[in-house]
Amino acid sequence: MRIIHWFRRDLRLSDNTALSAAARDSDGNVVPVFVLDEGLLRGRDVAPARVQFMLESLHVLDDTLRQQGSRLILLRGDPAAELVRIARAAGADAVYFNRDYTPAALKRDKRVRLALESQGIRTASFKDLVIFEEDELLTSSGQPFTVFTPFKKAWLMRVGKIQPLGKPALKPLPEDLVQRGAPIPTANELGFAVTQTLPRGGELEAQRVLSRFIESGAMAAYSKQRDYPGIEGTSRLSPHLRFGTISPRQCYAAAVATLDYPFPSKRSFSPAATDEKKAGADSWISELIWREFYIYILYHFPHANHANFNRAYDAVHWGSGDPALDEARFQAWCEGKTGYPIVDAAMRQLNQTGWMHNRTRMIVASFLVKDLLLDWRLGESYFMRMLVDGDPGANNGGWQWAAGTGTDAQPYFRIFNPVLQSERFDPQGVFIRRWVPELARVPDLYIHAPHTMPPTVQAQAGCRIGKDYPAPIVDHNTQKEEILRRFKAVKSEPVR
Ligand SMILES: Cc1cc2nc3c(=O)[nH]c(=O)nc-3n(C[C@H](O)[C@H](O)[C@H](O)COP(=O)(O)OP(=O)(O)OC[C@H]3O[C@@H](n4cnc5c(N)ncnc54)[C@H](O)[C@@H]3O)c2cc1C
Repeated sequence: MRIIHWFRRDLRLSDNTALSAAARDSDGNVVPVFVLDEGLLRGRDVAPARVQFMLESLHVLDDTLRQQGSRLILLRGDPAAELVRIARAAGADAVYFNRDYTPAALKRDKRVRLALESQGIRTASFKDLVIFEEDELLTSSGQPFTVFTPFKKAWLMRVGKIQPLGKPALKPLPEDLVQRGAPIPTANELGFAVTQTLPRGGELEAQRVLSRFIESGAMAAYSKQRDYPGIEGTSRLSPHLRFGTISPRQCYAAAVATLDYPFPSKRSFSPAATDEKKAGADSWISELIWREFYIYILYHFPHANHANFNRAYDAVHWGSGDPALDEARFQAWCEGKTGYPIVDAAMRQLNQTGWMHNRTRMIVASFLVKDLLLDWRLGESYFMRMLVDGDPGANNGGWQWAAGTGTDAQPYFRIFNPVLQSERFDPQGVFIRRWVPELARVPDLYIHAPHTMPPTVQAQAGCRIGKDYPAPIVDHNTQKEEILRRFKAVKSEPVR
């Protein structure tokens, strides 16, 4: 028996559910396949950063497979046609893969299954991207959760000790099959110009990043440090979780080892952690649950992919009434030239590295919606085109949370003040100065609102407002009143 393993968002060998099942069922006769879907590469929200990270991760995967005498067979084209072709050529009985839950992935997978099964090739799919999927967690009335806290409670009540799987043993591939694979192209060859300095891809790197997060003490200090963009206080595992170069079970098991919880037993979900180290790991696990929550929401409420989760907010009116002004404001936001240093620093970090800290993601998202009065979908799409970790669930969930249109959203009347956020989360302006060099010499007193610098201080700091650094493009208080008026005009309704 020979089985094809179709790699998608699981670019690793260890703790890979479908791959291990394929190895077990075929006695190691697995054909590892990745299909470079040309249709996806031409999509509206494709990011050069993610293409680059993915290609690098594919190289690492291929290298690791070669160490076992196997290979990654890279195919280019439509997954349904390519998988039928390789399954026939390999004489494979089945195609195994791990499930994905976005509306587009579900549609594609249905089509691929039908194509394979119509040719007598069995398919089997597995839970791997998340710890709990689909209908595994429901409210007491059997409905999907729409609020995070009870979802988290149900998640923690159900989870037990998790022992991630090792790497399966795979047999070498016959030469005629190896010949069918195309070389892994570069991003450039695919027509993408990558200008950002990106994190490295691949399974080994993911394990290294996780170890560094634990060994540096950052996981233990996570609850104290996670909100400060000037500190390396978060794991930076998001691109790895996005492409599956690490699994959520490996992350969860590492956090539990740090927590030293007494498993198997049900533990309290509320601040169980008594000491600081435990509090850190506990709140990091919460973030892993947020990731699952947003994947779950998009699965159960696919309309949220392109529309407000709460449809009542479809009636909110966006924009200033002047399309040219809106376009200019949007461009200033994209380029990090709004005159609000924390916003500008974060957007420049995104543009240059493909990653942004969670606190500043919330700040810039709130700013686009509540200060610039622009539709959250504009920002969501820009993020998708720039982020190395761009993920439909987390990105959509994050944007709708900030806009106040989503599940469990920040209520529309709670509006981030970008200057106060900056004072609180980057008190000395360490983060701002790193990404906005023209503000490097601005004194601490003015770093959060440099337009308030008197002319003499501007001269001393080498930063003339309106010349070296912009004056604020909007007035926060004026815009706040306006967005409140617009939101109040429509009535929120709970989504069922
Ligand atoms: C407007 C907005 C857009 C976002 N877009 C994305 C996105 O496209 N892709 C993405 O992975 N995350 C997104 N997030 C969530 C979060 O900002 C990132 O996951 C986090 O900053 C990644 O850094 P880290 O790996 O160091 O996270 P850590 O703090 O170390 O967290 C560990 C992991 O938990 C998950 N996670 C953490 N916070 C969240 C969250 N709020 N929601 C969902 N998952 C979370 C991520 O997988 C992350 O790698 C977004 C948040 C906002 C507010």
